[in-house]
Amino acid sequence: MQPTAGSLHLGTFNQQRWHDRLSIRLMGWVLATSLAVGLLLSCIQVAVEASTARTHLDADIQESLATMRSSASQAVYSLDPILARQVLDGLLTIEAVIEASICHPNGSAMAEVSRPLAESPYRIFTDLLFDPVRDYSLALYMPTPNPTYYGELRVSIDTYYAAQRFLLRALITFVAGLTSALVLAFVLYLAYHYFLTSPIKQIIDSLLRINPAEPGLQNVLIPTNHENDELGTLVKATNELLAAIESHQLKRDEAEARVIRLSQFDMLTGLPNRTLFRSYLQGAIDEASVSDQKLAVFCVGIDDFTSINDQFGYSIGDAVLQAFAERLKAHKDSVHTSCRLAGDQFALIQFNVLSTLRVAAFAEALLKEVSRPFEIKDQIISINATIGIALYPEDGMDPEKLLQQAEHTMTLAKSTSHNQFHFYVASIDAEIRERKQLERDLAHAMQRNELFLVYQPQVNMQACQLIGVEALLRWNHPTRGFIPPDVFIPIAESNDSIVDLGYWIIERACQQHREWQTGGLTLPVAINISARQIYQKDFVDRVTAILQQYQIDPGQLEFEITETSFMGDLDLAVSTLRSLEEIGIPCAVDDFGTGFSSLSYLKQLPIQKLKIDKQFIRDLMDDPDDTRIVHAIIQLGRSLKLEVIAEGVETQAQMEFLIEDECLLGQGYFFSKPIPPKDLLELARSHINCRETTS
Ligand code: C2E
Ligand code: MG
Ligand code: MG
Repeated sequence: MQPTAGSLHLGTFNQQRWHDRLSIRLMGWVLATSLAVGLLLSCIQVAVEASTARTHLDADIQESLATMRSSASQAVYSLDPILARQVLDGLLTIEAVIEASICHPNGSAMAEVSRPLAESPYRIFTDLLFDPVRDYSLALYMPTPNPTYYGELRVSIDTYYAAQRFLLRALITFVAGLTSALVLAFVLYLAYHYFLTSPIKQIIDSLLRINPAEPGLQNVLIPTNHENDELGTLVKATNELLAAIESHQLKRDEAEARVIRLSQFDMLTGLPNRTLFRSYLQGAIDEASVSDQKLAVFCVGIDDFTSINDQFGYSIGDAVLQAFAERLKAHKDSVHTSCRLAGDQFALIQFNVLSTLRVAAFAEALLKEVSRPFEIKDQIISINATIGIALYPEDGMDPEKLLQQAEHTMTLAKSTSHNQFHFYVASIDAEIRERKQLERDLAHAMQRNELFLVYQPQVNMQACQLIGVEALLRWNHPTRGFIPPDVFIPIAESNDSIVDLGYWIIERACQQHREWQTGGLTLPVAINISARQIYQKDFVDRVTAILQQYQIDPGQLEFEITETSFMGDLDLAVSTLRSLEEIGIPCAVDDFGTGFSSLSYLKQLPIQKLKIDKQFIRDLMDDPDDTRIVHAIIQLGRSLKLEVIAEGVETQAQMEFLIEDECLLGQGYFFSKPIPPKDLLELARSHINCRETTS
C-alpha cells in the first residue's frame, strides 16, 4: 500500500520477510514442537513394539516347535531318520527357520537341515534391531510312565522376517506421527492467520491510512467479527487515543500559532512587528536585487499621538492605532506591506518602485488617507502623520539600514513639520545622529550643572520701565559650548524629559525671584512652559508646592505657553489654565501669530497676555503684511481685554511704531539681551535705555 501524503510510513511492515510473519513463525514453532514430541513418542512406541515383537517371535517359534515335539520325540525314540527328516522338512516350511536338527542326548545329529539367511538390503537395520539369528532348542521326551530324555530338537531362526514386519509397522507409526504434526501445525497456522494475522494486517492497513497531521479525522476500522473481542477493544482504544492525540495536537498547534503571532505580530493592530517586517524587507530586497528593482521603505509616525492619549484616554488611543493600522492595510494605492514598529510608528514597503515620483505620490496619498477623521466610540478624531522615506538601493542595502534611515528621517521631520513626507538625505542622517547624541548628553546635563537660566527684561516702552523678566534656559555643553534652546528644548519635549526639566526651571526661577526679592528687587518672572507640562495631571499642585517652598506670590509668575500647545487637548489645557488662574498665575500666549491663532480658541482660554512673535516685529517697518498682522494682534488683544507684548524689539523705530499702535510692552535686544541674574540686578538699579545710542 502506498502511504498517502502525510500518512504513516511503515515501510518495514510492507517489506516484512515472510518468515518474520507471526503466522509463519507460529507454524514453525508448532511444527518443530509437534515433530519433536511425535518423534520422541514414536521412538518410545517403536522401542516398546520392538520388545513386543521379540517376545512374539520367541512365542511363535516355541509354539511351532511344540507342534513338532511328539513327531520329533517319536523319530529320536525310534531312531527313525526318515521321520526325523520329515519333521525337519516340516519345520523348513516356516520361512524364518534356517537350520533345524534332531540330536541324540550325546549331541550328535540324527538329522539336520539348513538354508542360507535371507538376503535383503534392509538387513543392516533388521540385524541392528534383532540379532541376525536366534537359536531355540526343545528337549525331546517320550511320554512313557517315566518320561525319559531322548534328545533335542534344535532350530535357528533368521530374525529378518519378523524384523521386516516390525519395521513396516514402525514406519507407519512414524509417518502417522509426522502427518498428524504437520496437519496440526497447518491447522494452527490457518486458525492463527484467520483469527489474528489477517485482522491485525487489516488494522495495520487501516492505521497506515491515518494522516498523522489529522490522526482523529479517520477511524481505524474494526475487522469484521472482531467487534467484541480483544482486537475490537484494541481498535476502539486506538481510535480514542488517536482522537486524544488530535485534540492535543490541535491545542499544541493553537498554542504554537499563538506564540508565533506573539513573537511576530503586534497584538493590538494585528500587523507584523518589527522582527517580521525586517524579514519581509530582507525578502523584498533579495527579490529586488535579482530583478533589478527598487523599493521604498516608509516610516509613518502619527503626529503628537501622546496628546490623543492624554485627551481621550488610552483605550481610545488604542482604538485610533487599530483604525490607523486598518487604513494602512487597506490603502490600495500601490502594492505594499505594512507593520507596526512601535507605539505610534508604522512602516511600509512599496515594491517595484519605478520612480521617486511614484513614491512621493504614494506617500501623499497615504497622508491623505490617514488624515480623514476617524470615528471612534462616538468621537470624531483627526490625526496627521509624518513619513520618512528611504530607498533601496540608494539609501541602504540591508533592512536594518533602510529602516533606520526611514525612522531617522521621520523623527527629524516630525521635529520641524507635521503632516509631511520627507526623503532620506545623508546630511539629515548626520543630523539625527547628532540629535541622538544630544539627547543622551541632555539626560545628564542637569546633574552636571550645565544648565542655567538667563533673564531677559520685559519693558514698558512708553514709561521706559522694567516690568519683569522672561526666564530663558541655557545649556553650556562641555564640548560643544552653548547650545540654543531651540535645538535642545524640542529634544527634551520629544522624550518627555521636558517635564522634569520644566519643574527644575520653575524652581530655579522661583529661587531667583526670592533672591532678588531678598535683595529688594521685586521682579515678575515669565517662564516658558511646554505643552507636555500643562498636560501633567499634578502640574498645578506641584507648581503650588514650589511657590510655597519659596514663598512666592503667584502673581509674580507668568507662564508663557505657545498656541500649538493647546492643540492636543483643549479641554485639559483650559482646565489647567483655569486652575492656574485660580491660584493667581497669569498665562501668556507665546509666539502669537505663528500658530493657528484661532479666535474661538482664544475666547475659551483663560489667558491674560499675547506675545507678538518676533518674526512679525523683525520686518515691521518693511513688510506691510507684518505691519498689518501686528496691528491686528494689538487690536485683537484690546478687544479681548488682553495685554499685548511685542518680542524681538531690536530698534527704536520698531519700539516707536509699537507705542504708536498702542502696544506699550516690549522685549528685545533693543533693551537687553537675556543676561545672568547678577547683571540683571545692575540693570534694574540703572536705567533702561529706550533711546538708540549712536556710537
Ligand atoms: P521664546 O519664549 O519666544 O523666547 C524668546 C526668544 O527670542 C529667546 O530665544 C530670546 O533670546 C530671543 N530674543 C529676545 N529678544 C530678541 C531680539 O530682539 N531679537 C532676536 N532675534 N531674538 C530675541 P532663546 O532664548 O534662544 O529661546 C528660544 C526659545 O526656546 C524660546 O522662545 C522658548 O520657546 C524656548 N525656551 C527658552 N527657554 C525655555 C525654557 O526655559 N522652557 C521652555 N519650555 N522653553 C524655553
Ligand atoms: Mg517665551
Ligand atoms: Mg516667543
